[in-house]
Amino acid sequence: MAELDLTIDTPTAANLAGATREELRATFADAFGLDPKKARMRANQVFRWLYHYGATDFEAMTDIAKEMRSDLSERFAIQRLKMVERQVSKDGTRKYLLELSPGVDVECVFIPDVGRAGALCVSSQVGCTLNCTFCHTGTQALVRNLTAAEIVAQVLAVKDDLEEWPTAGPVDERERRLSNIVFMGMGEPLYNLENVAKAMDVISDGEGISLSRRRITVSTSGVVPQMAPLGDQTSAMLAISLHATNDELRNELVPINRKYPLDALLDACRNYPGVSNARRITFEYVMLKGVNDSDAEARALVRLLKGIPAKINLIPWNPWPGAPYECSPWERIEAFADIVNRAGYASPIRTPRGRDIAAACGQLKSDSVKKRAGDVRREAAV
Ligand code: SAH
Ligand code: SF4
Repeated sequence: MAELDLTIDTPTAANLAGATREELRATFADAFGLDPKKARMRANQVFRWLYHYGATDFEAMTDIAKEMRSDLSERFAIQRLKMVERQVSKDGTRKYLLELSPGVDVECVFIPDVGRAGALCVSSQVGCTLNCTFCHTGTQALVRNLTAAEIVAQVLAVKDDLEEWPTAGPVDERERRLSNIVFMGMGEPLYNLENVAKAMDVISDGEGISLSRRRITVSTSGVVPQMAPLGDQTSAMLAISLHATNDELRNELVPINRKYPLDALLDACRNYPGVSNARRITFEYVMLKGVNDSDAEARALVRLLKGIPAKINLIPWNPWPGAPYECSPWERIEAFADIVNRAGYASPIRTPRGRDIAAACGQLKSDSVKKRAGDVRREAAV
């Protein structure tokens, strides 16, 4: 049988939620001995029910013969991730803690009034291998990469919570609450590119969730060799976590810079597939008091990005317990923004969202820890 990634409680049935078209096709061909044409047709039908209508039950799939529906429910499941916690901020931001498998949790955040309607910030890894000094996620060791299905499953869970599935007919674009996806949750998406790309195929498919690739942004700390493949494989919009304008400081704040310094990073930006004035790269710059927030650095930032179709997001640093930084004072951020604005970059200060529930950029962290092999074996034996 084709490999389906999601772990579920019932070991007898494979979970179809999060599967790609191709996985569905191969799975049905194998499970029911269908010829390629029939398998493709069945996969297309189920795909539409899963991702356009948000079905969680084969019985709802009314254009599939009754007998086939019961065959499907005997062999397969459509199961959502368990929602361990759901918090709603004063500003409407929603943070979810979802269980991927026992003891492995991941966070994602829905932020209303961002992008065209609202943005969902998804995670691509539990924890992170990188150790950016100002980021809370960076203090959590990498537990594992998410599967493509688990990335899609975050979107499904949030669409359930927003009650955003059409009961019938096409989605009315004006009614959408979830219009954008940003890979800015836990982890470094370019260290899990294969699954990120596969998840994007499902999320952007016009017969399903149908979010345009131009509304999907992938943020990277600067994994240079994976940037061109990201553009080639996904046509995603790119965001770069820049945060410093010289190698010495960036080596300290974003340690991956020691491997891929600014010169190489900016070259990869210039060559990012599809980059143009209509498809600009977003540069994120976190404002750290007395560290990277001087007027001279604002001018250096403008010089550095010269010639690259760029947008700049100034992010007031979000605090977390034990962090060795302070956020720059508001007047400092404004003075910095003024310099950037005068150079032709519009409205760059990003208002912190969901700080009261630790849902803002860089505050995400789950309690999952990487289990030692011995623990895993002991648990499996119980
Ligand atoms: N690992 C990827 C994706 C995570 S995106 C990356 O680093 O790009 C999360 C964004 O929030 C990144 O730009 C990150 O640098 C920024 N960030 C991390 N910690 C932060 C904090 N405490 N306050 C504000 N922004 C933060
Ligand atoms: Fe990882 Fe991004 Fe946080 Fe750096 S900023 S530690 S790359 S999640």
